[in-house]
Amino acid sequence: MPLAGGMTLVPALKLRLARPSHVVDIARLPELQGIEAGGGRVTVGAATTHAEVARSEAVRRAIPALAALAEGIGDPQVRNRGTLGGSVANNDPVADYPAAVLALDAAIETNRRTIPAAEFFVGMFATALAPGEIVLRVAFAVPHRAAYRKFAHPASGYAMAGVFVAEHRDGPRVAVTGAGPAVFRWREAEAALSSAFRAEALAGLEPDASGLNADIHASAEYRANLAGVMARRAAAAIE
Ligand SMILES: Cc1cc2nc3c(=O)[nH]c(=O)nc-3n(C[C@H](O)[C@H](O)[C@H](O)COP(=O)(O)OP(=O)(O)OC[C@H]3O[C@@H](n4cnc5c(N)ncnc54)[C@H](O)[C@@H]3O)c2cc1C
Repeated sequence: MPLAGGMTLVPALKLRLARPSHVVDIARLPELQGIEAGGGRVTVGAATTHAEVARSEAVRRAIPALAALAEGIGDPQVRNRGTLGGSVANNDPVADYPAAVLALDAAIETNRRTIPAAEFFVGMFATALAPGEIVLRVAFAVPHRAAYRKFAHPASGYAMAGVFVAEHRDGPRVAVTGAGPAVFRWREAEAALSSAFRAEALAGLEPDASGLNADIHASAEYRANLAGVMARRAAAAIE
């Protein structure tokens, strides 16, 4: 099993939730390093830490919303160890990066193939990665404008609901994390923003609560409401 920053894997090993026969440290593999911008894409190596993305000039220039998202993950210790590849491979339903991957129409390049974002996140903690398949890098499409807003859990910083709104040449994309079993595109919000790219266009909208998560932190209805509020805040930030 690959080990990146160990932010999720090490606690999972400690709790015996994962019992791999081998753990291979991939954090320093040259193929997983670096950030490049060009051709309408920003490509980030899978071993890039959240702190590196947050302070990257290339990311801040091309997709400031992505740098801001990375800056808002967890705390400094987590940002200095946690990686993009580990975050997307883990596909935690409350993680931030999956929302950017989906809303920025990213391509996930592995050691075997390129997987479009739309096919990558298949369910709670589940991805299209096959056993032994390693994420090498993620290529994000540069939008005209984009913003991410989350209601962070006060203890962990994870999203209770997080919404990434992006306007691309072919229209808006809105991705919601934290609220459902896995990140999802919110088509109703996209349709509303297609008519007018303004927060007002989202007034009164919220995702259907019936498919959303309910736990000790929040009911499904509360998360639906939060998603609507975060979407309006994100749209307002860039309208
Ligand atoms: C206290 C705390 C707070 C956090 N808060 C937030 C938050 O606010 N928002 C947020 O989004 N996240 C948050 N995280 C998650 C964190 O940011 C990491 O992204 C996440 O834990 C993955 O860690 P990692 O990159 O070290 O990967 P690891 O823990 O090393 O690996 C995670 C999983 O991914 C696999 N893996 C790793 N790299 C690859 C690869 N390149 N290819 C294929 N598989 C791979 C591993 O085998 C393992 O199964 C938090 C974590 C902690 C501990």
